[in-house]
Parts: sequence; C-alpha cells; structure tokens
Amino acid sequence: MSVEQKRRALITGASSGIGKATALAFAKAGIDVALVSRSVDKLRAVCEAVSHTGVEAKAYEVDLACLTQVQEKIQAITLDFGDIDILVNNAGMGYTAALSETPLADWQRVIDLNLTSVFQCILGILPRMRERGTGTIINITSIAGKQAFPDWGAYSVSKAGLMALSQTFAQEERAHGIRITAICPGAVNTELWDTETVHANFDRSKMLTPEIIAQSILHAALLPQQAVIDELTITPRAGAL
Ligand code: NDP
Repeated sequence: MSVEQKRRALITGASSGIGKATALAFAKAGIDVALVSRSVDKLRAVCEAVSHTGVEAKAYEVDLACLTQVQEKIQAITLDFGDIDILVNNAGMGYTAALSETPLADWQRVIDLNLTSVFQCILGILPRMRERGTGTIINITSIAGKQAFPDWGAYSVSKAGLMALSQTFAQEERAHGIRITAICPGAVNTELWDTETVHANFDRSKMLTPEIIAQSILHAALLPQQAVIDELTITPRAGAL
C-alpha cells in the first residue's frame, strides 16, 4: 500500500472477541490500528500479534464507562497516533435480566457503555474528520436492537438507541464526507457470553465467529468512498439462538 493510501483505524474493545478479530483483520489488510480498552496488557498482546504485518499498532488504556473523559481521551489518541480514517465503536457489554428485575444502576451501566460512550467517542473524532472532509464510522449494534428477546431488555434498548444514533449521525454528517455503518450481528461466540451479567445456555457451535464479523467490518471500511453500507445484519444460519 502506498503512503497516500495508508489508513489509520481506532478500534474500541480490541482486547477480545469481535474487536480483537477486527484489529487482526485490519492489520493484515495494512491498516494501522489504535487499540482501546481497559486492559492494556491484552491490547499489547494484540499489538505483538500483528507486529509481523509491519503496520503501526498501539495500545491505549481507556475506561469508556467514564463518560465525561471519553471525548478528550479519544482526541488525545488522535493527536498521538495521527488522524483516524476509520473509527470502529465496538466496545460493549452484555446484560440479561427481565426488565421488571433490572436495577436502575444496572440499566444505567448498560446504556452508559453501549450507547452514550459511543456518542462521546464519535464527538471526540468528528472535528478532525469534518476538517479533513472524510471518515468512516462503524458502530457494532446487535440484532437485539431490531428485535425483542426476553431478558435482554436493557441491552436491546441500548442497541436500538445505537441504531438511531447511527442513522442520525449518518444523515447529519453526510454533507461533511463522513459515512456511518451499523453492523448488527446475531449471536457471536465471544467472552460476552461468559460474563457475570449474562445468563444464557445454548449450543455454541452454531454461533457466528468473531472473524466472520471482522471480515464484514473490514469490507464496510474499505468500500469505495462514494458508497456506504448503512446497515448490515449478519445472523447464524441456524437463526436466533
Ligand atoms: P467481548 O466481551 O469479547 O469484548 C468486549 C470488549 O469491550 C472488550 O475488549 C472489553 O475490553 C471492552 N470493554 C468492555 N467494557 C469496557 C469499558 N468500560 N471501557 C473500554 N472497553 C470496554 O464481547 P464481544 O466481542 O462479543 O462484543 C463486542 C461488541 O459486539 C459489543 O458491543 C457487543 O454488544 C456486540 N455484539 C456482540 C454479540 C455477541 O453475540 N457476542 C452479538 C451482537 C453484538 P476490556 O475488558 O479490556 O476493557
């Protein structure tokens, strides 16, 4: 890839699952990657894993749940790493409980990370993308944002909100040369299903893999500038699990 074509991406939640697979796929495609999450050691291991590709990969420790700091931290990363061409808003958490049994603090935690932190990451990146008149923002939403699943209420609401956020930013920023894509995966076999906030039990062999989603994210990112994938839904062939 020539110097003029060199692209830089910032990927949140790159320490595991879909974000990590996306970092590996982007690096393999020659895209420099700034990797964000709370676990800087895990991020450094991802950087190490892509060192043979020759791309620049750098780890940044950011807790995206600290909402008031997110904008300035993202701005600081762009100053340190260089202008970002592709922002992948992937960090998020799963959460299961009937809505009637969801404590307000849990509801707030899910909305803060899955929705409001994305809003703040975008605001952190937008000024430079506008100045440059170009940029691609890819938000990882979920099939749960389009369809109700019992016991996934807070999560569904956060992802439905993220769909609306994506659609609104897409309309508002089109004139500035910025395109927004919402990727809506069905069940993907990642650590999200093993956290203490998620209770689910089904045959994991039928799930999507993080690598499948990463390929779609890469495809959306590399699409010629005059085109945009507004929304892409990818589900296991076996259906909702
Ligand atoms: P993982 O649990 O494997 O990854 C979640 C990532 O988010 C980790 O890198 C984690 O890093 C990061 N993260 C969590 N909390 C914070 C925080 N406060 N600040 C910064 N980073 C944080 O899950 P997935 O790969 O499955 O999930 C990625 C995205 O895909 C999520 O938005 C999820 O909702 C979405 N999704 C997942 C599906 C699935 O079935 N797995 C289906 C549809 C959508 P660290 O812990 O190091 O901070």
